[in-house]
Amino acid sequence: MFLRIDKLQTELPAPKRQDPNAAAALQELLGGKYGEMSTLGNYMFQSFNFRSKEKLRPFYSLVAAITAEELGHVELVSNGVAMLNAGPDVPANEKGNDDISDAPFKGMQDIRLAASFLANGGGALPMNSNGASWNMDFVTTTGNVVIDLLHNFHLECGARIHKLRVYETMTEATGREVCGYLLVRGSVHAHAYALALKQITGVEIEKMLPTPNIDLDRIPECQKYLAEGSHRRLYRFSPEDYKEVAGIWGNGEQALPGDPPGELELVDGHPEGGRIHNLMGQTAAFSPEYAPEEMFEIASKLYKKSR
Ligand code: MN
Ligand code: MN
Repeated sequence: MFLRIDKLQTELPAPKRQDPNAAAALQELLGGKYGEMSTLGNYMFQSFNFRSKEKLRPFYSLVAAITAEELGHVELVSNGVAMLNAGPDVPANEKGNDDISDAPFKGMQDIRLAASFLANGGGALPMNSNGASWNMDFVTTTGNVVIDLLHNFHLECGARIHKLRVYETMTEATGREVCGYLLVRGSVHAHAYALALKQITGVEIEKMLPTPNIDLDRIPECQKYLAEGSHRRLYRFSPEDYKEVAGIWGNGEQALPGDPPGELELVDGHPEGGRIHNLMGQTAAFSPEYAPEEMFEIASKLYKKSR
């Protein structure tokens, strides 16, 4: 089962301007072939389907713990997409009684993923940067531990090239932060699957890293995560379980040669995380709408009752 914490794995800087085309590019990291829906779907179903869990505990626990992190990555990218679609906070937009007769959203006719606004009110969905749906063909669960782990290594390296290319399209700080954080975490996952494969087969797959071949020290948005040692940490994402991962990630194993040096560390629980940006309503787009002031008042009374 899963627990839920009302935070993002890292805090995203507020957008300085509305940029729906940047949001569309970021959608690739959510519902693209190598996006977060794909890593989540792969590890989640592999962990559900895992055979000989008790005998292969460290390998099962690795896939299971990373599953939880990937669900948080889906949440992080989705928030980034919605933030870029929404732009800076405009409290006046939440008040209602808008004049919609002058085409307030005429600019939306020219953006790449018009349906993000027209159908979804600027929210994120499991689709790629061109609006093609994510689907289960992106999930591989073979029942064979080595083939699944090898697929996961490929998937994390593919996700890394995905993120690097999306990053190269971005000038917007919100989207760049998403890429910077996920590049560091993706390198941890690629490294972890490589070490798991080495334990089973003896093949030193980690020597292929980083793939593609660019060190994270070339990316400004990665620096604070490298400085705090995120590249050396794998999280259990559980109060008590998945401790067996320490046999693979830990055990005196070291950070990759291009990264700041140090020993790999299995961390209890989850990253501290950051605030979820409060997306404001926009009554001209009928979101959240109905009777805004009345709904806010009702919610505020309910909140007081809950305290
Ligand atoms: Mn991920
Ligand atoms: Mn990953």
